[in-house]
Amino acid sequence: MTTHVKIQTAPIPFIDVAAQRARLGARIDRAVSSVLESCRFVNGPEVAILEEQLAAFAGAKHAIACASGTDALAMILMSWGIKAGDAVFCPAFTFCATAEVVAWVGATPVFVDVKADTFNMDAESLDRAVAVAKASGLTPKAVMPVDLFGQAADYDALLPVAEKHGLKVLCDTAQGFGAAWRGKRTGSIGDASATSFFPAKPLGCYGDGGAVFTEDDALVPILKSVREHGQGVDKYENVRIGMTGRLDTIQAAILLEKLDIFEDEIRARETIAARYNALLGDVATVPVVAEGATSVWAQYTIRLAPGRRDALADALKNEGVPTAVYYRLPMHKQPAYSAFPADALPVSEALCAEVISLPMHAYLDEATQDRIIAAVRRALAG
Ligand SMILES: *Cc1c(COP(=O)(O)O)cnc(C)c1O
Repeated sequence: MTTHVKIQTAPIPFIDVAAQRARLGARIDRAVSSVLESCRFVNGPEVAILEEQLAAFAGAKHAIACASGTDALAMILMSWGIKAGDAVFCPAFTFCATAEVVAWVGATPVFVDVKADTFNMDAESLDRAVAVAKASGLTPKAVMPVDLFGQAADYDALLPVAEKHGLKVLCDTAQGFGAAWRGKRTGSIGDASATSFFPAKPLGCYGDGGAVFTEDDALVPILKSVREHGQGVDKYENVRIGMTGRLDTIQAAILLEKLDIFEDEIRARETIAARYNALLGDVATVPVVAEGATSVWAQYTIRLAPGRRDALADALKNEGVPTAVYYRLPMHKQPAYSAFPADALPVSEALCAEVISLPMHAYLDEATQDRIIAAVRRALAG
């Protein structure tokens, strides 16, 4: 029937970092050159300027730049003094770093299920997980909602449960920087937030980077001390155990240029996601953004009936369309994390068998979207 149509098979990139680089043109080269000329590779003036602009963008009081999203999460837990015997609640359906940092500080990650529609932490499961933690002899201390795939978590439901149990709220917005909940941008929600500037994240640098956000004035000097080996008033006085957590000046200079076009890129991602939703909604379960939330679409992730995913991935691959599975294993089934306590996690387990992500970035033009959409429709119709 459609045999006369020549199907294109040239490879499409999953995330097109080069297209953005072409748009920014010489701006990045100039920014990097200026750092090279200054030779202030660490703690250069661009870092403080970036911190100010990140805080303004997020509507947060303070932003503290650091070396990665993982370090940002760890710096917060270290600054709060989270330690052995403490329980920190993490979704089971997330990237490993969320729970990894809890184990770093000797505390216990306790896994919480997510909601089937938004893939974000389920407040009722959090409530049950607190009881599980107490029954295991742990002291509930903090919860780490993740703004998964770019969508702000359900803070209306989560914040009251956190308050009821006296939990600090550390928002893992590594994928969600730029998204909002009820008009508040991520970074300005909870007690502190962490984001990542890994190149594939919505706001990525050209290497590793991250940032902490907080409204808490008293936490800022502690975070900065942790970032610099626990330094005291003097650089060579160590008042706590810290780390090398600084963001390189070159990365800060690159991020300043990229932040400048980030709002525009978020709008482009929203347009692409809306188009995917409109043109794929009848053949797959397309992602849902909750009322009151926005997403920056770090991933565009659909759900299929169990058993159909691998055939779709193979069919798309043959047409040059890459896909990815985030995540194939829930955290409690990962060998390194299987011994930690958890609530029942049926939704996380089901999602791991059903989700698949399609190419998504701000420079995905309509012709390429159409190729991807047609390929998905062909594969799922067959
Ligand atoms: C990417 C990511 C991190 C870690 O960020 P890095 O900068 O790679 O260390 C943490 N949490 C989530 C949910 C992530 O997606």
